[in-house]
Amino acid sequence: MSDHSHHFIRPEILAAGGYSPGEQPLSTEIIKLNTNEHPYRASEKVFEAVIGVLEQGLSRYPDPSASEFCHEASKLYGVPSDWILCGNGSDDILSIIMRAFVGPGNRIRLPYPCYFLYKTLAELQGALLEMVRYEKDWSLPSVFTDDVVPPHRLHASATACALASEGRLKLAFLPNPTSPSGLMIAPEQVLELAQRLPCPLVVDEAYADFAGTNCIGLVERCEKIIISRTLSKSYALAGLRFGFLIARPEIIRQLGKVKNVYDCDSISIAAASAAIRDQDWLKIYTGKILATRNRLTAEMRRMGFHVTESHANFIWNTHPEISLPSIYTYLRKNGILLRYFDYPGWGDGLRISVGTDEQIDRCLQLIEEECDRLR
Ligand SMILES: *Cc1c(COP(=O)(O)O)cnc(C)c1O
Repeated sequence: MSDHSHHFIRPEILAAGGYSPGEQPLSTEIIKLNTNEHPYRASEKVFEAVIGVLEQGLSRYPDPSASEFCHEASKLYGVPSDWILCGNGSDDILSIIMRAFVGPGNRIRLPYPCYFLYKTLAELQGALLEMVRYEKDWSLPSVFTDDVVPPHRLHASATACALASEGRLKLAFLPNPTSPSGLMIAPEQVLELAQRLPCPLVVDEAYADFAGTNCIGLVERCEKIIISRTLSKSYALAGLRFGFLIARPEIIRQLGKVKNVYDCDSISIAAASAAIRDQDWLKIYTGKILATRNRLTAEMRRMGFHVTESHANFIWNTHPEISLPSIYTYLRKNGILLRYFDYPGWGDGLRISVGTDEQIDRCLQLIEEECDRLR
């Protein structure tokens, strides 16, 4: 029996692949080192703030501009509060930006390989994707900022690259630090990229708290720069859904028309505000993660893996001889989830999120066992 129920849906949606997130097993026995979540519990101040909201009841609509959070973020980052827009996680922020800037037939630019959500969101807009391949050492080729990129520098994607020179370039995306490599481009170089590009540049700083430096200061110096942030990774709040962006107030005003009025609820606004007020928590737990990451990196290198220099809470591993899928499968069988990526036209690798010291010890032990077996 044929079902025609979906035939009136827009062709862009029918053609889109949709986003496939990393696995979220329901069992709590599994050690998750696959989606870059924080392994520790968020600041107790967050839970106190949540209880405070619950005690007042939930009968009122939330503050549509999340002004409590904007006020805190303004103090923390030294930008005026009307330069900040809050959303339901940074995925929501990225979706708001995409819907506001990009229409059918427009072009957007991103590096390859990188975070896949940009591609998914662009497909929904009927936009053309230009994915500029990183060099083999993960440096960004200078053609990234040219209006027209020669096709052989682009990853061949589903949305015809042959058309790539038509349509206007509307937006470029740069995760910084980027996933899966964890590498980072220095703020001064990001400024140069933005100045050379013929369109605005979205700097996705999901991991910037682990990096020690960031591009927030550039927004004042260059109107083309938009910063996207999330509390999911460094503040251990992936389950809460809170993200925000920093841009010029003229942009914020326009994006305010695009966002859902109540995309941040009372609980998330209070919790997120409490989280960024507690900078002592951030400092202590970021320090723990970085110490564990450096130990993990050293151990993986000792076992012969090539590990990029991460500025985030995960590391990217390749190996000249050993089969990475076998390691992935062996750890999975033993209750540890990692992320194995095989990027067509690029190569494969194993991404390991930094867990607690105990989780990483177990992970290293299993990797060593499997390496010994494979040798
Ligand atoms: C995890 C991640 C996000 C998504 O963050 P949420 O706020 O949880 O939606 C955005 N960008 C990059 C590069 C990420 O790795």
